[in-house]
Amino acid sequence: MNDSPADANSNAYRGRFAPSPTGPLHAGSLVAALASFLDARHHNGQWQLRIDDIDPPRAVAGSIDAITETLTAHGLIWDGPILYQSHSSPLYDSALDRLTSSGWLFRCLCTRATLDSNGCCGQRCRDHNIRPETPHSLRIRIAPERLEGFRDRSMGEQPAPTETALKDFIVKRRDGLYAYQLAAAIDDAKPNFTHIVRGADLLESTHRQRWLQQLLALEPPSYAHVAVLADEAGNKLSKQNGAPPLDNHQPEQNLRQCLQHLAQPAPPSSASRVPEMLDYATEHWSMRR
Ligand SMILES: [Zn+2]
Repeated sequence: MNDSPADANSNAYRGRFAPSPTGPLHAGSLVAALASFLDARHHNGQWQLRIDDIDPPRAVAGSIDAITETLTAHGLIWDGPILYQSHSSPLYDSALDRLTSSGWLFRCLCTRATLDSNGCCGQRCRDHNIRPETPHSLRIRIAPERLEGFRDRSMGEQPAPTETALKDFIVKRRDGLYAYQLAAAIDDAKPNFTHIVRGADLLESTHRQRWLQQLLALEPPSYAHVAVLADEAGNKLSKQNGAPPLDNHQPEQNLRQCLQHLAQPAPPSSASRVPEMLDYATEHWSMRR
């Protein structure tokens, strides 16, 4: 990756929070930021901020400033310079070249109209000789017998996924943009990061990313997927469903709610301000199942 942390020990803990610049942080994103921060600090590890900016059409102006202001207001100070996925294009291209030459990619002509009900290639494009100049996406083949499970530090043993669950997912989009799965698989692998802590809604993506890491001979990091915050109707809080931005003027209250959601002990009244709360939470952090 572009910037290596100061610690040269390849076994040292390196974690990250990796928001997309698609709007301000909400309470759900603060849970992921806080969990990854506390896990890193509890293990005396590095904690970096990576902006996952590979989808310019979805980017919202001013988001990066809003994200860094919110993290700072909540005492979540990252190590080193901010990392940007948009700087990693050469790595993604060389990975795509390797996957192409080893025969794992195929060109897919499908548009919304021809995708099957799972969003997969619906007209067996893999069996057709599609010329490179025809607009296409790149999809990855799955070898079901080679899929592996893993142990999640929060959710326990995860069996190998079925082929249907992963099926021919996209690694480069028809509009020429790199797919999230490709970028995350490469940027989250060791030695860039050793420990990934993020929301449980990404568990299925992790199987896809681990498949890419396997094909690219990248060493997977350890994963922990923590429970995501839901609204009263049980839907995951997200920018898409209108989760309100965090109020940076009440960081103590926000942190307290996140700690409660993460089933961590409540900081005592003697630790009522942000730095003391985070010190207490770091010391008492444990990954919950
Ligand atoms: Zn297709």
